[in-house]
Amino acid sequence: MTDAELRQRALKVVPGGMYGHLNAALFAPGFPQFFERGQGCRQWDVDGREYIDFMCSWGPVVLGHHHPRVEEAAARQARLGDCLNGPGAIMVELAELLVDTVPSADWAMFSKNGTDATTQALMVARAATGRTKVLMAHGAYHGADPWCTPSPAGTTPNERADLVEFTYNSLESLEAAAATVEGDVAAIIVTPFKHDSFEDQELVEPEFARGARALADRLGAALVIDDVRAGFRIDLRGSWEPYGVRPDLTAWSKAMANGYPIAAVTGTDALRGAAQQLYSTGSFWFSAVAMAAAKATIETLRDTDGIAAMERAGTQLREGLYAQAKSYGFTINQTGPVTIPWLSFDGDADLSVAMYWTDACLRHGVYLHPWHNWFMSAAHTEEDVAKALEGTDQAFAETKAHFG
Ligand code: PMP
Repeated sequence: MTDAELRQRALKVVPGGMYGHLNAALFAPGFPQFFERGQGCRQWDVDGREYIDFMCSWGPVVLGHHHPRVEEAAARQARLGDCLNGPGAIMVELAELLVDTVPSADWAMFSKNGTDATTQALMVARAATGRTKVLMAHGAYHGADPWCTPSPAGTTPNERADLVEFTYNSLESLEAAAATVEGDVAAIIVTPFKHDSFEDQELVEPEFARGARALADRLGAALVIDDVRAGFRIDLRGSWEPYGVRPDLTAWSKAMANGYPIAAVTGTDALRGAAQQLYSTGSFWFSAVAMAAAKATIETLRDTDGIAAMERAGTQLREGLYAQAKSYGFTINQTGPVTIPWLSFDGDADLSVAMYWTDACLRHGVYLHPWHNWFMSAAHTEEDVAKALEGTDQAFAETKAHFG
């Protein structure tokens, strides 16, 4: 069954043929919708085309597909049972691992998706403070529930009425936002760096991170780091740990279990009682297989210094792309951490150059994204990146020929 045939069939039985962030209709024309398999840092679409993949399934696949240690742990647990009447011992082991790994974590709660975790973190903050308002950065993505989905379709204004927006990296704006709801701020929710789609990424200013911490303390509000996208790719201890800034609550998911479905909230002792009060649960939240995969993934990242491997591969990719772009006369911007990179073309406001180039990359076996950040994995070897750079070089040549 080809991609084109599957799209036709899907149109009849799936709204729009596909929805959400993996809807290939939103990328560039040549992007495949349906995939057949993955191995290491490669994926094959249903038409049999092979790609060196730099999206890593939009983050989850951090060690490469079919990582033996993760697969073995998952299979061992699957043989025992996955969805049982209660969690396995693995839940306690995983919570202990998180508490040992993350200095701001005294406890952990588990769920399935990043949205579960950000929503649950805000519930803890509200239960703890008895307040309603949440300060969040304008344009930030925290998930797809009615309170945070970027599209208003199907939501009511009430569902977002408790959000007050500030400008990322502007302490002045954060303080101004807080001042509008003085006395009623339950939480400040913030991503570890600015990674809004369609825009160059922006690393956090350390003074902003420290200022957000100080403001939360002054207000008696919770500082929530949404580490769903960046977690386990910047610092295993939490992405603001290098700045010495510790959150009260952290939302985790994506890279936590190398593709198995799991999310977590970790928090401090001060919020333990509030967390305990919540009725927050789900039929599949305590499935043991994903927990076993998570434990194996985090241990493997720790034992093999997986982040250092991603940094090496990401640096090689970034340097290679800069050199290629220069040789073809393109001015490009590469932003964000090297482990969560992105490239934009100067003056390409309508993204037509990025669309053309990423489409050309696909034809040369390299899967990148025109308007969303990419993800490195620890499975990207020096040879893989070198091979991918051969493809991107041809794509630059074709882009140059097309746009002149
Ligand atoms: N927060 C951030 C920062 C994210 O990047 C995402 C997912 N892209 C989410 C929350 C929501 O995660 P999920 O899609 O797993 O619900």
